[in-house]
Amino acid sequence: MQERVHVLKHGDARTRGEFASYLMYASHRSVHNYALEYAVHAANELRRPLLVLFPLIERKPHPNLRRFRFMLEGMVKLRRSLAARGIRLVVGRNFDFARLIGESCLVVLDSPYLPHQRRFLREAVEGAEAPVVMVEGDVVVPVGVASAKAEPYARTIRPKILNNLQRFLEEVPQLELKAPSLDVDVPSWDEDSVEDYLNELDIDVTVPPVDYYVGGEDEALRRLEVFVRERLRFYAERRSDPGADATSELSPYLRWGMISPVQVLKEALKRFELDDENVRRLIDELVVWRELARNAAVYNPDFGRFGGLPDWARRTLEEHASDRREHVYSLEELERAQTHDRYWNAAQRELLRTGKIHNYMRMYWCKRLIEWTEDPRTGFEYAVYLNDRYGLDGVDPNSYLGISWCFGAFDRPFTESRVFGKVRRMTEESLRRHPMIERYLRRYS
Ligand SMILES: Cc1cc2nc3c(=O)[nH]c(=O)nc-3n(C[C@H](O)[C@H](O)[C@H](O)COP(=O)(O)OP(=O)(O)OC[C@H]3O[C@@H](n4cnc5c(N)ncnc54)[C@H](O)[C@@H]3O)c2cc1C
Repeated sequence: MQERVHVLKHGDARTRGEFASYLMYASHRSVHNYALEYAVHAANELRRPLLVLFPLIERKPHPNLRRFRFMLEGMVKLRRSLAARGIRLVVGRNFDFARLIGESCLVVLDSPYLPHQRRFLREAVEGAEAPVVMVEGDVVVPVGVASAKAEPYARTIRPKILNNLQRFLEEVPQLELKAPSLDVDVPSWDEDSVEDYLNELDIDVTVPPVDYYVGGEDEALRRLEVFVRERLRFYAERRSDPGADATSELSPYLRWGMISPVQVLKEALKRFELDDENVRRLIDELVVWRELARNAAVYNPDFGRFGGLPDWARRTLEEHASDRREHVYSLEELERAQTHDRYWNAAQRELLRTGKIHNYMRMYWCKRLIEWTEDPRTGFEYAVYLNDRYGLDGVDPNSYLGISWCFGAFDRPFTESRVFGKVRRMTEESLRRHPMIERYLRRYS
């Protein structure tokens, strides 16, 4: 636990404040939440109640109905599960979080990794006189423990993560809060109707909510159980087949911290050994690639932009920027899935309807944007826009890792070709090799 904890501001918590606060940003959950348990433990030591504060700002980019409904569905359930432990969840927009933070004896933060998210937290605690502590709970191996520099490839970070993996799979004991905070009088959104609250918010209502994913840690757990019981045994073999239903579908829940990656792995290890080939494959995606994305978010200041690609990839794509494109589509045509390519349209429709795309289709979907836009920079921007606007799992380090990978980052140069230069191409042939691709196409026809 100590290696997850970063003291951002020292001070004596004993001499001030009526309560301790946990300013929740990244980990929307009541179990397996290191920041929460750290805060409960500290509040108990200080003999103070603990408030969990959730500032509901219209978070950019893409504050929209789809993403906010998913988030608030989770909040309603989280309020109940925290209340069962005597902890008050304070959700709100119009009241003074700065005052609450100013009145706290201790402020605990969880740990998002994107720069705009970190900036928000930094500004939120700027005026705090109390000690401020950040706890890294949404990775298995804390970013700084895994590596002190930007890692160029999965193969370079993999051994660093695997060498540390087991000691970071520790249990997170749920502690009892000795001084309950349910009666602390602070205004908050305490209703159960998500719809009423959504109507009050200044959000983009043109991106409709989805039925396929319902927000909340209970939903995340349900999906995890199904995955471990029914799918994990053929994960290695079928995870790349878009029609095979072989993956966990947990990315929206991991994105909002409604489930912890440690918990996902621990559940898998209850049924399978660490060296089982399916578990090894899961670790590679859930830990190695996912944490490579966090490494890039922390150490590459241009991550998530075309300018953040490695030099060779940027250069080769720019050298081929004026190659003739057979099709160039407008953002609107792409958004509406109106291209000549039934595979691409199916992937875009999956995104529109469910808020996520299968990983293999996502690679194809993004690679095509290099070919179908005027230049690679525009292709990159469209990919980020579409993925973040419609994806429930968008605006995540994984989003920019996946897109950057399609544009050559974290990959090696290949034989030079039209439009792509030395960046790896992907063709329809590779999709047709998957036995259940037709099933996928029917589903999203
Ligand atoms: C162009 C592009 C855009 C992407 N955008 C996103 C995004 O916005 N949000 C997102 O979470 N993932 C993104 N990915 C990665 C990957 O597609 C999704 O994580 C995966 O499809 C989620 O499905 P799942 O939960 O069923 O995955 P599973 O196979 O069940 O994997 C479990 C978890 O491991 C992590 N994971 C799996 N594959 C990857 C990967 N390749 N890179 C990093 N982490 C991975 C995810 O958190 C995932 O939920 C993107 C990939 C590409 C190529």
